Amino acid sequence: MTARKIDGKAFAAKVRAQVATEVSQLKAAHGITPGLAVVLVGEDPASEVYVRNKGKQTIECGMASFEHKLAADTSESALLDLISNLNNDPQVHGILVQLPLPGHLNEDLVINAIAPEKDVDGFHISNVGLLATGQKAMVPCTPLGCLMMLREEHGSLSGMNAVVVGRSNIVGKPMAQLLLRDSCTVTIAHSRTRDIEALCRTADILVAAVGRPQMVTGDWVKPGATVIDVGINRIEKEGGGTRLVGDVDFDSAAEVAGAITPVPGGVGPMTIACLLANTLTACCRANGLPEPE
Ligand code: NDP
Repeated sequence: MTARKIDGKAFAAKVRAQVATEVSQLKAAHGITPGLAVVLVGEDPASEVYVRNKGKQTIECGMASFEHKLAADTSESALLDLISNLNNDPQVHGILVQLPLPGHLNEDLVINAIAPEKDVDGFHISNVGLLATGQKAMVPCTPLGCLMMLREEHGSLSGMNAVVVGRSNIVGKPMAQLLLRDSCTVTIAHSRTRDIEALCRTADILVAAVGRPQMVTGDWVKPGATVIDVGINRIEKEGGGTRLVGDVDFDSAAEVAGAITPVPGGVGPMTIACLLANTLTACCRANGLPEPE
């Protein structure tokens, strides 16, 4: 392996510690405790793990955590009523509805019912528009975490060629917007992109957010490039059991890249750290206080 491994776990711990310090200052100076409400509908096992981790880390940072677990057959109107109550609750500064929702619920409708200033996931249409037009937005946590690692790695990203593989609303598109805002030349690739390998080889920054285990191999990577692997895929292990892998074939890509995030321990931990940072930001904005950097 020639690439430097980017330690997302350590970086996320640093971000969380910084959030915890700012939360304790907020409490001491203003008597305000930032609060995050997480809504989980149904019993998807992966979502339950994410929600548990989010709650635990919220409390560890000194914030208030409000968990709302609803039955899988919860009606849309009951869910919208809960969101309306959370929108009006002054103790709640951030609201996150864990996706995916059960099929009978309209995700767009539900997400757009969250007050934009409390939308710490940054998925509300207002926040999407604010980000796209370069205004002050709530920025989606996973791409924000990727951006923070890239800035830490490179300082300025200005003028770099970035290729984002994946065009989802929660990762690919906001990632591209953030890289554009940092003055990269950005290309978004997807399932219809022609000669995707050659395109990826032009990238100084290559972000993979596809959901296909180990799709991006070393021969897709420009020598010295920085590779950010957003994918989380569970695959069968030889000899039984399962393990987590990314969308990048780590071993072959690490032979060519300059720096690379591992899975697990790369983008994943940064996502929750950014959620906590967004909740703190939302709390400061709600109280007219200066925002943390
Ligand atoms: P989506 O399924 O919503 O989007 C996947 C994207 O990949 C689509 O735009 C699709 O293209 C594109 N794609 C699929 N197959 C190919 C292919 N063969 N070649 C090129 N592009 C392809 O996924 P998400 O964006 O939600 O998630 C992506 C990955 O990131 C998943 O593994 C997910 O688990 C992980 N993830 C990790 C997070 C973290 O915290 N680390 C948070 C969120 C997601 P098209 O639009 O043409 O269909």
